[in-house]
Amino acid sequence: MNNKGILIVISGFSGAGKGTLMKKLLQTYDNYALSISMTTRKPREGERDGVEYFFTDKAQFEQHISEDGFIEYASYCDNYYGTPKAYVEEQLNAGKDVILEIEIQGALQVKEKFPESLLLFVTPPSAKELERRLVGRGTESEEVIRKRLSRASEESEGIEAYDYIVVNDNLEVCVEELHSLVNAARRAPIRRDEFIKEIREELKEFSKGAN
Ligand code: 5GP
Repeated sequence: MNNKGILIVISGFSGAGKGTLMKKLLQTYDNYALSISMTTRKPREGERDGVEYFFTDKAQFEQHISEDGFIEYASYCDNYYGTPKAYVEEQLNAGKDVILEIEIQGALQVKEKFPESLLLFVTPPSAKELERRLVGRGTESEEVIRKRLSRASEESEGIEAYDYIVVNDNLEVCVEELHSLVNAARRAPIRRDEFIKEIREELKEFSKGAN
C-alpha cells in the first residue's frame, strides 16, 4: 500500500465558489490539508496573513522563486501567486490529501511535475451565474470583475487538461462529489504503484515452475 496522500489541484473560474467548497470539505472530512499560497495581491477585507494567504511583496516573492521555494507559481491578473513547497511535502508524507486551490497555469505545472496528482475543475452551472456571483460578492470593482470574466473565458480553453469537472450548483452535493472523486482516485493504478509491484512479484513467485 502507498500511504502517501494524494496531491489534489482544484481550479475553477474566479467566483465558482471554491473557497466555500474547500471550507466545507475540510470541516466535513479530516483527511485533507489545504495549502496556503503566497501572493502579492493586497488582502481583501477580512483576509488575514497566514490564513487565506501569506501576503508578501514582489521582491520577497521573487526571492522565494530564486530559492526554489515553490512547487508552482503563476502571474494572475497582475499579481503573483505560488504554492510553497515545504508544507505540501510534509503533509503528503504524513498521509494527508493535500489540496492546492490554484489557477490553470499552476495546475499544468503541477501535472507536469507530479503526474499522479488529481486535477479537478469546479464551475458554476452557467456563465450568467458566474457573473451574478462575482457581482454579488461585492468585493471587487466593475473593472476587476470584467478582468476576471475575461480571464475565465481564457481559462475555459484549458479545461480538457483536468481529470474531472464538478458543477457547483449545490454546496452539499458538490462537497460529496469532490470527496467521492478523491476516494475513487486512490484506486487508480498510477497511485497504487507499490501495490502493483508487490502483487507482480508475488505472482511471479507463484507461477515459477508452471512452464
Ligand atoms: P484570488 O485573488 O481570487 O484569491 O485568487 C485568484 C486566482 O489565483 C484563483 O483562481 C486562485 O485559485 C489562484 N491561486 C491562488 N493561489 C494560487 C497559487 O498558489 N498558485 C496559482 N498558480 N494560483 C493560485
